[in-house]
Amino acid sequence: MFTYKILSLVMCLLFQRPQVPVLCYHNMHASGGHPDNVLYISPAQFSNQMQWLNKNGYHSITPDELYAYLHNGATLPAKAVMISFDDTHEEHYTVAAPILKRYGFRGVFFIMTVSIGKPHYMTAAQIKSLSDSGHIIACHTWDHPNLSKVSTYDTQKQLVHPKQLLEKITGKTVSYLGYPFGGWNEQVVKDVKAAGFKAAFQLDRHSFSDDPLYSIRRIMISGSWSGEQLEEKMKTAFH
Ligand SMILES: [Zn+2]
Repeated sequence: MFTYKILSLVMCLLFQRPQVPVLCYHNMHASGGHPDNVLYISPAQFSNQMQWLNKNGYHSITPDELYAYLHNGATLPAKAVMISFDDTHEEHYTVAAPILKRYGFRGVFFIMTVSIGKPHYMTAAQIKSLSDSGHIIACHTWDHPNLSKVSTYDTQKQLVHPKQLLEKITGKTVSYLGYPFGGWNEQVVKDVKAAGFKAAFQLDRHSFSDDPLYSIRRIMISGSWSGEQLEEKMKTAFH
């Protein structure tokens, strides 16, 4: 009974912790983003958003810090934000990383391993360099299937092997997964847990009440947003 009460209290705390904004970026092209397209941002727009966050006192956090906050009740710095990038794009290394460095931010890079070393995608050396400079490398499966929609998938190929490959490249444990297309269901969560991930990130669906750590929400960011608009979305997206 006592254990049950403690457990209830922990679950209660977990659910009541305010959602920390997790930003999600994809392509970075000079043509930039439009209000209705959250898949593109120009280097200048990205730089402006990072500059604004820095100037307004935001602190980037890592998935480990977010996990400690959600799971263990750890405190976070004021105005915490997680800044993430999907799909292994080369410009995440050539454009985003120098801008993050300028403003003292750390990024989280969700890597689909099939594209490593292909034209316009990051090489293994670039991924290692990001990791060595304090950024976090996370897994985004092998070839980006929507795990909640395909009837079957090979868990070794999509979850276990990509995790191992990224650990070999970085020399660090890879503990977090980003679901391609944000797609997850109960079976996917079971598989992701069994593959050894501590938590997983989706997009904007409701969290999985049985296991919110495996459905942490992220906000896709439009390059057209000003700093003020970005902050407004960060405050209101999931409330
Ligand atoms: Zn993706």
